[in-house]
Amino acid sequence: MSAVDEPIFTFDDSFVRDLNGMYEPWRAAVAPTPELLVLNETLAADLGLDASLLATADGIAVLVGNEVTPGSSPVAQGYAGHQFGGYSPRLGDGRALLLGEIHDGHGNLLDVHLKGSGRTPYARGGDGKAAIGPMLREYLISEAMHALGVPTTRSLAVMATGDKVARDIMLPGAVLVRVAASHLRVGSFQYAAAHHDPTLIRRLADYSIARHYPEAGHAENPYLALLASVVTAQAQLISQWMQLGFIHGVMNTDNMTISGETIDYGPCAFMDAYDPATVFSSIDHGGRYAYGNQPAIAQWNLARLAETLLPLIDSDTDAAIAAATSVLQDFTEQFGTYWSAGVRAKLGLISVEVEVEVEVGEVEVGDGALIDDLFAVMVAGALDYTSALRWLSAFLRADTKPAPSGFVPSEALKTWAARWRLRVTSQPGDPVDIAAAMDRLNPLYIPRNHRVEEALSAATDGDMGPFRRLLDVVSDPFTQRPGLDAYAAPADRSTAPYRTFCGT
Ligand code: AMP
Ligand code: MG
Repeated sequence: MSAVDEPIFTFDDSFVRDLNGMYEPWRAAVAPTPELLVLNETLAADLGLDASLLATADGIAVLVGNEVTPGSSPVAQGYAGHQFGGYSPRLGDGRALLLGEIHDGHGNLLDVHLKGSGRTPYARGGDGKAAIGPMLREYLISEAMHALGVPTTRSLAVMATGDKVARDIMLPGAVLVRVAASHLRVGSFQYAAAHHDPTLIRRLADYSIARHYPEAGHAENPYLALLASVVTAQAQLISQWMQLGFIHGVMNTDNMTISGETIDYGPCAFMDAYDPATVFSSIDHGGRYAYGNQPAIAQWNLARLAETLLPLIDSDTDAAIAAATSVLQDFTEQFGTYWSAGVRAKLGLISVEVEVEVEVGEVEVGDGALIDDLFAVMVAGALDYTSALRWLSAFLRADTKPAPSGFVPSEALKTWAARWRLRVTSQPGDPVDIAAAMDRLNPLYIPRNHRVEEALSAATDGDMGPFRRLLDVVSDPFTQRPGLDAYAAPADRSTAPYRTFCGT
């Protein structure tokens, strides 16, 4: 028990209460000499937690899993999953624990979860551990995604455990404390549907509806409405990823949430040069999770979710399949609508009058063609995706200062931009305001791959300075600030292609 008088967390245990069969009670491995590397004070305050208490020895003991606070029933969650298309019936938290849920004071129930907290009954061959670098990587990128406005799990803290972790070399171990709307995944449904307890899938679906989509509970067919809600949440999420050039890298069904939050920042990375075939993960040989494949993979994963819900949707299997298929097919249109609205806003195309596509001779004119042509220009010139989009507002302002990113537009981009400017200035509204609105959607500072690596390698060597600076930069991605141009610059293209790794 913690020695402090005030409780650090007040935990609920709704998952444990309602979903017997989906977890194994478990305790974290003892961290020999825990040390706080980074604490998210803003998030702590938002959750109604006392950051100064979390930073004490007693607080750290709870955050690292050495102490279990009253009310917490730590469990390793069970789930299944399709990994790169191949099915594993029993994955589960091999190195993670759910401590419990907290009420955040804004009406939300949130999971508090440890990652890197030691082997569990689901560990299979894994050591249950995590190294400092990958846990700080998740902290950094998830917080950047939050600042970019993308639904995501959050990071509350990373502690060094004092343990060593055997990877290619021995590395310092760490535990990440993650906060999430929940850790329910498509893989959770796959696990429940295959469970010997036939009531489990219904209990899981009812729990998910109550926790995430209460309005679905009032629908004529609540389970079909649950599927439709997840389809919509994922269509919106993947559209946001795509607009930012984010590549998740390991969109297995166990890494896709029911809530619609981005989860599991393993091999993810932001695209530099625009190319839909971009892959960073060292194990994604076939490009299954390439940038441009993400919408199709999301739909594939949602089909796996739909399969688990069929018996709940209708006792007549053919009727259930017909209903679920129709909901799944909506994904394409919904994704297209979110994507197109998002890209139009990023390009300052606010009026709708010119949306109609017109064929003039052989040439298609209108916004669709204008947008397609921009992507063609970006592919052809291998233009830096983030910098090219940010440069457009400067062009609209006729700003002659060099771009903070050092981005130099290609002739093809300048030609395209001249055509785009005519379109943008033909709509009502001051171009200065349009440019300002674009700057609130096209980030200047993203976690650039080379910057992330530099920060993580310094942290692994004991210097948290570069990590703290980078975290500060990406926590405010849209506002240009003096002295930070180097953080806006793309990687030197002469270096080897960037590679990322899973399960580290
Ligand atoms: P991921 O692809 O990182 O989401 O992980 C896939 C599965 O591998 C999950 O069941 C994880 O819990 C498990 N896993 C990953 N790394 C380890 C590890 N070092 N020890 C035990 N299990 C692990
Ligand atoms: Mg995972």
